[in-house]
Amino acid sequence: MKRLQAYKYELRPNGQQRRDMRRFAGSCRFVFNKALAWQKQRYAADSTAKFSYTALANMLPLWKREPTTQWLKAAPSQSLQQALKDLERAYQNFFAKRADFPRFKKKGHSDSFRYPQGCKLDQENSRIFLPKLGWVRYRNSREVLGTVKNVTVSQSCGKWFVSIQTEREVEQPLPQATTAIGIDMGITRFATFSDGSYLEPLASFKQHEAALRKAQQAMSRKTKFSNNWKKAKARVQRIHSRIGNARRDYLHKCSTTISQNHAMVCIEDLQVRNMSKSAAGTTAAQGRNVRAKSGLNKSILDQGWFEFRRQLDYKLAWSGGYLIAVPPQYTSQTCPCCDYISKDNRQTQSRFACVECGFEDNADVVGAINVLRVGHARFACEVSGAVMPPAAGTHRSDSGAAQCLH
Ligand SMILES: [Zn+2]
Repeated sequence: MKRLQAYKYELRPNGQQRRDMRRFAGSCRFVFNKALAWQKQRYAADSTAKFSYTALANMLPLWKREPTTQWLKAAPSQSLQQALKDLERAYQNFFAKRADFPRFKKKGHSDSFRYPQGCKLDQENSRIFLPKLGWVRYRNSREVLGTVKNVTVSQSCGKWFVSIQTEREVEQPLPQATTAIGIDMGITRFATFSDGSYLEPLASFKQHEAALRKAQQAMSRKTKFSNNWKKAKARVQRIHSRIGNARRDYLHKCSTTISQNHAMVCIEDLQVRNMSKSAAGTTAAQGRNVRAKSGLNKSILDQGWFEFRRQLDYKLAWSGGYLIAVPPQYTSQTCPCCDYISKDNRQTQSRFACVECGFEDNADVVGAINVLRVGHARFACEVSGAVMPPAAGTHRSDSGAAQCLH
């Protein structure tokens, strides 16, 4: 099977390269925003106007010739085209209801640009050739395996990074483990397993929250754009990046352990995007319990459920296992002993007690057991060749290409 893997390193650019990278990222952001504005205008004039990458790509040379935007010529053309590709992807995600409507990019928010080709990797000398930048040194922490597909350069907290996407052929692995497990994701426990064990929440955000608030307050007291304000802002960004690193690290450890110990993992198919939306409510119907719900959402997003699921998915594919996502209906209300479904079974948030047969257990463990049972049933269906309804949410990584994007 084909294995896609990304490797990320810190770059060690010289002064000129640093300035150029800032300019290239700025040019890509400019192109993205200009294209988005153009598309919005076109749509306002004619609501049948579809997004067209080709139309936009054809406008790029015109923008480069315009006296006011001539500076676009300095940036690698392929990276500018990739910015348009990103916009195309953003539109596709919006229409597939995976994401909100594309937004304008702001300076300093995920500054990056991508090369689809033309990069040369010299691992022996810890350097990479990037078009229009030349050879750039990087902190070589591990060996890159496979052929280089594309390269993304990005900035975070004043440091520049390179992410190298590779592809290689690996043998279809056979799972070492043979067991199956169900997972119930939660707030008080990050994950509860059908065997009764559980993982504590990371709460990296809570740990750093006080420090972050203090840094944000300090920043708000400074005169905007002054030197002290810039220093305070850098501090806020550093704390944000520390939170992100701690969370990523924790999620990777958890997902690695699970994927090594089990051949089949069943998980609830939660729509985190919908959940975070419902908190705000629409203007017509203000969401109830907005405060409580936004608190819940903050926890969900803080814990990175989506990221956890994405990691489980590709890691299981790498080890020859399966991830099965099941619809979450009734998993918290069904009795695993007698199948009786009732809201009354769930007396409190943490306790499950069947009103029919008297079975009692921790509510999260019951949820995980039910997730596993539904997953088993769905997996059996799939193997026997029965046609699954597409909306059922059963998900198997059998595309052959397992992905890892750090
Ligand atoms: Zn029962």
